[in-house]
Amino acid sequence: MARGCDSAGAEALAKSGVTVTSLKQMDRSQLLNLGVTTAVADILLSEKRPPIQPAIVSQLLFKSKMICCVCRESNKSVIIHHLNGWAKTRKHDEKDLVVICLQHHDEAHSQKALSQNLTPAVLRDLKQKWEQRVVEQDAQAIVGISNASYAHWDYFNHNRLLKIASAMHIAPSSLEGFYECRAAGVVTNDGLMVELDESGVTNKDKYYLYEGEYLLIRYHYMTSLIEEIIKRSIIVDITNHWKKEELVTLAPEGALIFCQGAFNFKRLSKGPKGPQQLRRGYRRAEGIDLQFVFDAWECTSSSSKSDRLSGRTVANIFGLVQTVEDKSKGLSIHISCLATGTGFTNVREPRLGRYQSFGYADASFAEMSPDLEDFETD
Ligand SMILES: [Zn+2]
Ligand SMILES: [Zn+2]
Repeated sequence: MARGCDSAGAEALAKSGVTVTSLKQMDRSQLLNLGVTTAVADILLSEKRPPIQPAIVSQLLFKSKMICCVCRESNKSVIIHHLNGWAKTRKHDEKDLVVICLQHHDEAHSQKALSQNLTPAVLRDLKQKWEQRVVEQDAQAIVGISNASYAHWDYFNHNRLLKIASAMHIAPSSLEGFYECRAAGVVTNDGLMVELDESGVTNKDKYYLYEGEYLLIRYHYMTSLIEEIIKRSIIVDITNHWKKEELVTLAPEGALIFCQGAFNFKRLSKGPKGPQQLRRGYRRAEGIDLQFVFDAWECTSSSSKSDRLSGRTVANIFGLVQTVEDKSKGLSIHISCLATGTGFTNVREPRLGRYQSFGYADASFAEMSPDLEDFETD
């Protein structure tokens, strides 16, 4: 109504589910078809365009690491550019938006017809290549921090990981430690972990799967397996994106995620021996609850079982998102845990780089959107 629409018209529009934001994205004929008067259409069309949806902004920034896809220089301020110009499309589709630095943004808008190298097609291609590179770097980074001197994988979901490896066509025989494990009889030809009775000790008398003399070769084999999976996966490291608005977009159902943070572990079943020693791992902070249930039987050492994955610990969780529920009391994420580790290099750092100029590091998306508009030209 503030825009000059009469109350009956405003009510009718509101009932049809149309918002001011979506009205602003329409062209003149769409507005007139909805029954908006010519005068109101003029006002809407002359107003500043609506901000890009926070979900789309967060995806673009995450996938680009807030780095220009043309020069890939991390210390430059970046903006979100419309490949085909806002005036033409009046839409903010992720595929039509690209993160670039100010210098390359100027070039993208330059009118030098012959030397206009940054055409929408070229930019789209550079964006796609840079996003692919970011995925590869993320995988290398996770493998890197898991190789720190005190790093240790404490738990593997063996069957799940083997299934994923098989789907990725990773041959168990190509992995380090496979032949030693075969020789010892602790894995099958298909690479599955065997619950072996060693020197008269049966599984139900063992405290954890790796107990016994083959602990190290089992661990070596599984470490090489998980590193291979990580290298071939698109993993969203949510450690520095622990905000409801961001997680809804970055960690949907089916996404592979990595998270470093303070987790709590709680026993769900009694008995210190044999399979089915169920435990819950959870992290609750800032209205977000991330949780999973795992079998502590599959721990890789006795200290993993008794210390590292009990009580409250800074843990590194690698898992598959199963459900995401946006409840009134907060966001609840259930994952199928594939592996956990401790002692990894700390990745919980304040965000670096110029993107802080957008208020990204310390403001919510709602606060940030108006700032963003100042930086976008179109
Ligand atoms: Zn650039
Ligand atoms: Zn632009």
